[in-house]
Amino acid sequence: MTGELTRHRDRIARMGQLLYGRGLAHGSAGNISLRLDDGSLLVTPTNTCLGMLDPARISHVAPDGTLLSGDKPSKETFFHLAMYAERESARSVVHLHCTHAVGVSCLDHENEADVLPPVTAYHVMKVGKLPLVPYFRPGDKGLAEAVRAAARGHHAMLLANHGPVVAGKSLEDAVWTSEELEESAKLFFLLSGQRTRLLDAEKIAELERVFPS
Ligand code: ZN
Repeated sequence: MTGELTRHRDRIARMGQLLYGRGLAHGSAGNISLRLDDGSLLVTPTNTCLGMLDPARISHVAPDGTLLSGDKPSKETFFHLAMYAERESARSVVHLHCTHAVGVSCLDHENEADVLPPVTAYHVMKVGKLPLVPYFRPGDKGLAEAVRAAARGHHAMLLANHGPVVAGKSLEDAVWTSEELEESAKLFFLLSGQRTRLLDAEKIAELERVFPS
């Protein structure tokens, strides 16, 4: 188990570096978690920069959030736990404060059930419908219930005036989907005010048929 823990901690540190290097994390914002076979979690520690993670200090917590080893986990661990509680297939959760997705989370949306339009096939395949979760102040545990409710039908969601939370079948899956979400948010602003051809219901149904999730 120790060797496995070290290997997974290294994987998380590499992904943190990648996200920071691509400008998707800044300061000490953002957190990554990984659910292990025994149900325990590795979580990035509180007040750490994703670009400078020390693998040995990444928090290892029991399924109820109790610290087993490493530094104190992120203060946002509770909503990672809510996501895992609702989604059995989730092995990793990534939460970022990436600029364009946060921008979308601050807009006044008419349809809060899906806040990004289907502009590309990859957005539809990787992100799908993206609901907006109501705003909660940092640390308000009411957010756990709201995330849990959204997680029943969605692996990706946007916390209002805050940022995205994405669950994946693997660490790579959660990171790549988070990157896709940020790119779609960037496109949303680039295309704003321009006549845009969205993927229609028929094209979306075809994607769902050919690439079932
Ligand atoms: Zn956050």
